Amino acid sequence: MSTATITRAEIIDLRFPTSEEQHGSDAVHVDPDYSAAYVVLHTDAPIAGHGLTFTIGRGNEIVCQAIESLSTLVVGKTLADIAKDRRAFWRSLAQDSQFRWLGPEKGVMQLALAALVNAVWDLEARLANKPLWKLLAEMPAETLVAATDFHGIRDAVDETAMLAMLHANDATRAERIARVEREGFPAYTTSCGWIGYSDDVVRARCREAITEGFTHFKMKIGQSIADDVRRARIIREEIGPDRVLMVDANQRFDVREAIEWIKPLAPFGIWWFEEPVSPDDILGHAEIARSIAPIKVATGEQCQNRVMFKQFLASGGMQICQLDSCRVGGVNDNLAIMALARRYDVPVCPHAGGVGLCELVAHLVLVDYIRFNPTMEGRVCEFVDHLHEHFVDPCVIQRGRYCAPTKPGYSSEIKRESLRAFAFPDGPEWTRRAIFRGKGIA
Ligand SMILES: [Mg+2]
Repeated sequence: MSTATITRAEIIDLRFPTSEEQHGSDAVHVDPDYSAAYVVLHTDAPIAGHGLTFTIGRGNEIVCQAIESLSTLVVGKTLADIAKDRRAFWRSLAQDSQFRWLGPEKGVMQLALAALVNAVWDLEARLANKPLWKLLAEMPAETLVAATDFHGIRDAVDETAMLAMLHANDATRAERIARVEREGFPAYTTSCGWIGYSDDVVRARCREAITEGFTHFKMKIGQSIADDVRRARIIREEIGPDRVLMVDANQRFDVREAIEWIKPLAPFGIWWFEEPVSPDDILGHAEIARSIAPIKVATGEQCQNRVMFKQFLASGGMQICQLDSCRVGGVNDNLAIMALARRYDVPVCPHAGGVGLCELVAHLVLVDYIRFNPTMEGRVCEFVDHLHEHFVDPCVIQRGRYCAPTKPGYSSEIKRESLRAFAFPDGPEWTRRAIFRGKGIA
């Protein structure tokens, strides 16, 4: 392990004006400007770690400030120190005796933690000259366990249980590494079903996605049941009877409303109903799951931490586990969540989209497949086709599948010119818009 020392955290408030074309729009988030609270951890070596967390515009500056504050616990550390006890390092941030009052392990501080932890793993993978997924795929089981914090979940999964589940997959690990390098991992698309798209755009996007090899499609629902039924009919007409359709309400409903809303959509053949209600409503998700079977309930993209995941999974309210690379406390927390999903035999179908979530989660889904849940059956990883051009190592989709990343790191680095152009509020892409708005032109 290199002795590189982290010398400085550079933090950038980066925002893209995606609301102008309704990309990413859903029933609740009607005008998202996809944003990243972005951090570069500079070192005394000629190498830096890049990390980010995702927001949808206003408030991104608050996350940046939280990263700034939390980074005081990271600057000055050597990578060798961090690697010596990854769990202790992670806990020193997540459970700092004063910062923890702002969470603990939830909200803005958890997003900030994700950005920093992701940057540290990016740095470690670069130093190892491996893509992050491969670094984690090849790590001894004991090392992965030692990086995982079991506080709050030991009644479901502890060190011994996680070690046993990893060891059970060790003998066949090399086959799965070879398979993902050859075939990648199945993806699904959300890009055809944003709620702000016209019917013609929805049809065109479906046709494009079929040509690109996608077999799974997701549409946003929840503003008008008549619109949802019409759009479900359009998508089903376009994708035919054999491809798979999922719906996503982005927390729009109360429990009884959700159960009623899905009834007229059920005839269109729905695999899962995503985020029907508040992301904190464990009992509500479980009740909906019981009421709408065989349609599954999917959630996780705004689930705060592993302790919440434990309860969702144990209660039956999370039948599809949509872990997110930037919502919980970064890679370490996601190792705990993968272990929990394995423990409760729930498929991991990660959340992605936004800025960089596809790039990052392309690594995590491979780790889940290689180390925890050794099957691709009933597993798909979200893909949204926006903003990849800003990344130095963008995710690659071929024939509807994520290709295994090949470059060293966590694929989280954004091009310098993009960081400059879309920095908020002083980057030229934003000052230009402010001038137009001031003149009443846009
Ligand atoms: Mg969603």
